[in-house]
Amino acid sequence: MNEPFYTSDWHIHSVASYDASLHVADLVAQAEKQGMTDYGLTDHVNDPSWIHFLKASRELVLQYARPGFHFGVELTTISGYLEAYVREHGSREGYHAPGLPGPEPVAFPLTAEELEACGVEYVIGAAHWILEAPRTQDVIVRDMHRQNLFCAQSPLVDIVGHPYCFFGTYEDKQGRQAPFHDFSIIPQSVHRELWAAIAENGKAMEANVGFFGGDNPEPFRRAYAEFVRGAFEAGVPITIGTDCHGPKYADMNEVYRTYLAPVGFGPGDFSHPRFRRPRTA
Ligand SMILES: [Zn+2]
Ligand SMILES: [Zn+2]
Repeated sequence: MNEPFYTSDWHIHSVASYDASLHVADLVAQAEKQGMTDYGLTDHVNDPSWIHFLKASRELVLQYARPGFHFGVELTTISGYLEAYVREHGSREGYHAPGLPGPEPVAFPLTAEELEACGVEYVIGAAHWILEAPRTQDVIVRDMHRQNLFCAQSPLVDIVGHPYCFFGTYEDKQGRQAPFHDFSIIPQSVHRELWAAIAENGKAMEANVGFFGGDNPEPFRRAYAEFVRGAFEAGVPITIGTDCHGPKYADMNEVYRTYLAPVGFGPGDFSHPRFRRPRTA
């Protein structure tokens, strides 16, 4: 058997996420089995009313406390209008996007004070949705970049999670609805701007294994690996993120090795997030 390609994983969802089914007992057992030394739980918080998920997540980290097991969170970018609405009304029930001209402002669902109060050690900031219309090629590239830069520049964030996560289709240059299967629609100049912003702000960028699987065509996967390599060469620390949602904690060593070794990565190249405080204990 090969040596593990990674021994840390900073993006893992447990049963404390609305969309995940991984039991922490299974996580810690499998992590040990595959030689992982450092990893963290990062359950989802998608709007300000979801802080109870974070508290449930913290309880699990405390229950299974052991060296190398950390408490993080995945904060998504959301519309600033939604964030303000939930702050005012306590939930998103009854929310309608105001339909004001221009792109919706970008916000995170929690504040530094809330993260601090929960004892969060590190934050993945990650975009999941396009906040601008219409979904044409130029607009989606611009909006993904805007949200990635927001993550890179936010004082809340330690890891920019899965840059260029995209669901659904957009209207390509020929006017057809296309899934995001051509990574080259994002210009190199945009990549350079993102890498510089992440490096300048002292953050890390995640190599999320999801880009190396699913229905992503092979050229897309290879191009994404080049993008991760470009970030690394621009001075951006790279973190591993399997983004596991369960039910089992999956060993992704061979997937990472398949895509990241050919662009020059080896097991010593992956970083830890910057921890904002000692782990909760
Ligand atoms: Zn995510
Ligand atoms: Zn995730």
